[in-house]
Amino acid sequence: MAAPHVLVFPFPIQGHINCLLNFANALVDAGVHVTFLHTEHNLRRVASGAGSPHLRFLSVPDGLPDDHPRTAAYLPDLYKSLAAGTRGPFRDLLARSSSLVADAAGVDEPTGDFPPVTCLVADGLLGWAVEVADELGVPAIVMRTASACSLLAFLSVPKLFELGELPFPVGGDLDEPVRGVPGMETILRRRDLPSHCRRPNATYEVNPGLHALAKLSADSSKARALVLNTTPTLERTALEHIAPRVRDLFAIGPLHAMSSTAASSSLLREDGGCMAWLDAQAADRSVVYASLGSLATITREQFAELFAGLVATGYPFLWVLRPDMVADAAALEDEAVREAGGGGGSSKACVVAWAPQREVLRHRAVGCFLTHAGWNSTLEAIVDGVPTVCWPSSADQQMNSRFVGAVWRTGLDMKDRSRSSSTAMAGEAHVLVFPVPAQGHINAMLPFAAALLDAGVFVTFLHTDHNSRRASSVAA
Ligand code: UDP
Repeated sequence: MAAPHVLVFPFPIQGHINCLLNFANALVDAGVHVTFLHTEHNLRRVASGAGSPHLRFLSVPDGLPDDHPRTAAYLPDLYKSLAAGTRGPFRDLLARSSSLVADAAGVDEPTGDFPPVTCLVADGLLGWAVEVADELGVPAIVMRTASACSLLAFLSVPKLFELGELPFPVGGDLDEPVRGVPGMETILRRRDLPSHCRRPNATYEVNPGLHALAKLSADSSKARALVLNTTPTLERTALEHIAPRVRDLFAIGPLHAMSSTAASSSLLREDGGCMAWLDAQAADRSVVYASLGSLATITREQFAELFAGLVATGYPFLWVLRPDMVADAAALEDEAVREAGGGGGSSKACVVAWAPQREVLRHRAVGCFLTHAGWNSTLEAIVDGVPTVCWPSSADQQMNSRFVGAVWRTGLDMKDRSRSSSTAMAGEAHVLVFPVPAQGHINAMLPFAAALLDAGVFVTFLHTDHNSRRASSVAA
């Protein structure tokens, strides 16, 4: 029998690359040869030392011009150009490297010490790659990088339309419960469904984003096997409802916690300086780490609000401000460091373009993670026991943050964060805020309590008897 050699092909964005590389690393640990397929554009950017003689990196073109921005706003371009422009080069590569074709055609592929490819693991967003493997007779399985709960929501989209839960009525209450996602009737409100559902009055046909994601989910479920980066400990119910809809389901996460091979996959250069800044923090669990992942973008107003909130906590914070996250991010980064009193060795704030997140979350000084609730970040925080404040941006993040706040209780769901998010949180969290009874400490913790209130959390602010008689505070 041929030695196993798996070709792993992620959709070429950071969260997907990290997830599939963790899977690749776990396969390598198990003695399997792995070829990890980047796009040419990404392979030039990753500083990947393979970390194992059983792991190699190859690339295919992504079909976009070199100067294409490839940011979140342009993901549909990337998606289309991969399906159209990458299919051919991928087919050639798989044909040359796979056992059957190599045997049949007697092709002498320069594989080095690598045996012929015996299996493809394709990202669920690359359904065409599975079709190519089928054409060539190479066994293929699909990996979805999102949570099981969000996959189940996407699989339930036709049912949600059938039941009249979708589309949402114009001006409808986003706190209305949603029927139709099995096992989640008591958990989900409209606002927790994937962000693509939020187009009022958009029927299935005229909501192309939702239509495409629901179709991709349905297609993934037809694969010979479906692999998810999750665990029944977190998502038993969702997995039980997905299992009957797929041929074979494997929940093998959290993958980042499982492999010892450490091939790097960062597309942006990590700023390791923030680790020294964390080392310099005297108090354990005192730092707020804030990162919205690799794709989310925010407006300048949201930047100002987030920044004010971080400062108002009174805690030192480490903030990942990607260059493409908000217009003029470089200028804002300087401003944030200056105004927060950070930089130059001062301890109040550290702002970086990209952090070694897994190391950051493991650091003793980090006590809270303000996150967009991307699935990798959510799992990484859970594994390292760092509580999260979730401010979801798009796609599956609305579902993940709901499960964080209402089911796993590993953090707070701060989605939509205004008016109606208070209703969402009511009764779910109650925080006792207990400052040192000195004016400076009280002043620092009051805004934090106010921010929790805004997020719908019940807050008890604990004064000493002495101060309570003196403070003229009225609860809002
Ligand atoms: N990440 C990182 N450094 C950062 C921010 C994020 O290494 O400064 C990593 C993080 O550890 C995670 C991935 O980028 O593995 C982000 O994936 P996630 O699913 O959380 O969000 P996405 O970027 O896909 O929205």
